[in-house]
Amino acid sequence: MKVFAAIARSSDEPFSIEECALVRPSSHEVRVKVHACGICHTDSAAKLQHLPVPFPQTLGHEGAGVVEEVGSGVTSLVPGDHVVMTFGSCGTCESCASAKPAYCDDFLAINIAGRREGGAPLRQHGKPVGQHFFAQSAFSTHAIATPRNLVKVDASLPLELLAPLGCGIQTGMGTVLNVLRPAARTGIAVFGVGAVGMASVIAAKIVGCNPIIAVDLVYERLEAARSFGATHVIDGRSSDVSLQIRAITGKGAHFSVDTTGHPSVITEATTCLRKLGVVAQLAAPARGTQYCVPSHVLGGGGLSWRGVVEGDSDIQTFIPDLVRYYRAGQLPLDRIVTTYPLSSINQAIADSDSGKVLKAVLVMP
Ligand SMILES: [Zn+2]
Ligand SMILES: [Zn+2]
Repeated sequence: MKVFAAIARSSDEPFSIEECALVRPSSHEVRVKVHACGICHTDSAAKLQHLPVPFPQTLGHEGAGVVEEVGSGVTSLVPGDHVVMTFGSCGTCESCASAKPAYCDDFLAINIAGRREGGAPLRQHGKPVGQHFFAQSAFSTHAIATPRNLVKVDASLPLELLAPLGCGIQTGMGTVLNVLRPAARTGIAVFGVGAVGMASVIAAKIVGCNPIIAVDLVYERLEAARSFGATHVIDGRSSDVSLQIRAITGKGAHFSVDTTGHPSVITEATTCLRKLGVVAQLAAPARGTQYCVPSHVLGGGGLSWRGVVEGDSDIQTFIPDLVRYYRAGQLPLDRIVTTYPLSSINQAIADSDSGKVLKAVLVMP
């Protein structure tokens, strides 16, 4: 069928909206009419070749929409179901079998390399357009996905607000709620409060952390962090960030979250902790980036260091949990999301990169 998709042809060129053909779903796949798709840092990282994807490419991995057609072997979804699209996983490896699909043995093959039986679902003149990014390639009016990376949601809810639950929001909130699991009144510092870090701040508020300290370079983001629950904010340009965190917390924070992947920030996120503190690192910096942490701080402090993918989300239970927080007014997605038409994708990415908006979401024509 005829669809329109935002296509990246090189790192330097802007996305162009082009007509493509979408293949029919196979017996174990689903076709989704995409209503909206969030823009996540990983899309830009892929376009800039920090992640190895070929061109031309159709990115987009925070899609949400309505199921239009299901393959003959699909029993869990029917046409008309509203779904949030998220990352794919194999379903059979040790991690998948233990409800940790973000650590699937095939995570990179399925999500970054976009492996799909039968090749890319989008074609132009019979030739593939990219692969199957995050088992969806959802910067498109329609997408092919599988029941493993679709989560059914209530049809009364606004899909353009739920779209970023599939990556950015579940990553930030899951890091706090699934990985760090802080007790009430413990101190947490969040380094970088874009959409992902802001989701960590929101989760920290939900569990009653205090203090909640946000660190960022963008003044507007720090102000926003205050409104979402940060008790203290620190300009990341100051030379003594970890000392300021120690001054606020007494002996250091119990937990820190790094959303930046910058080596110097990782060092601050480690040295700001009290004994037995835990650092969660959830960014995907350029391959080969090395982190440097003083040994007496890490070992002598009994600190733990935890890498996190997609907030450790077990998607079929955690995304419904996030929807419940949204419905309860504890996850104000309407204040996080700014919508753009698909045709404004390049502006939406520029506004995301500059920090003008927290979470840009493309709405399909
Ligand atoms: Zn797996
Ligand atoms: Zn993402």
